[in-house]
Amino acid sequence: MVPRDRERLQIFFIKHRGCLMSMAMRDLYWTAGFLEGDGSFLFGKHEQLQVTAAQVQKWPLERLQRLYGGSISGHQPENPKWSFVYRWILTGPTAAGLMMTLYSLMSEHRRGQIKQALAGWKTKPVSNGMKPACPQGHAYTEENTRLYRGSRRCRSCQRERDNLRTVLRRAA
Ligand SMILES: [Zn+2]
Repeated sequence: MVPRDRERLQIFFIKHRGCLMSMAMRDLYWTAGFLEGDGSFLFGKHEQLQVTAAQVQKWPLERLQRLYGGSISGHQPENPKWSFVYRWILTGPTAAGLMMTLYSLMSEHRRGQIKQALAGWKTKPVSNGMKPACPQGHAYTEENTRLYRGSRRCRSCQRERDNLRTVLRRAA
């Protein structure tokens, strides 16, 4: 980017910072209001943290998806008299981030749900595939990791085992 363009861009941001900020705040307040009424904050099925919302209308859910990601699915309830509903689901760290961001804007009741969901999520053990180091504490860096039948093996541990074997063989 030529310096002149950069300068123009900076001027643009300084001039419009106020309204760019208020746009983001508007989205946030809208989200808080919408989820206060039609959302739920859970740590439930399959030990997954979820922010969900169900609606007969699809557009509010599409707005949520545009803002935060997640997925939308449609459901026909078993009772045919009930109307077709759409459900938006956001999971994982993004869901945690959204819960923390919205927390101060929500009612006591919703804050209780958020607290409970986050507490459950924090105690969830990190799955083996996500651990940053082997049981002996060697970091699973690219050089130190070997894939064996779909799981990670530690090269440092392998080397230590090989060395031990050599020493034992020599001692014999
Ligand atoms: Zn190791």
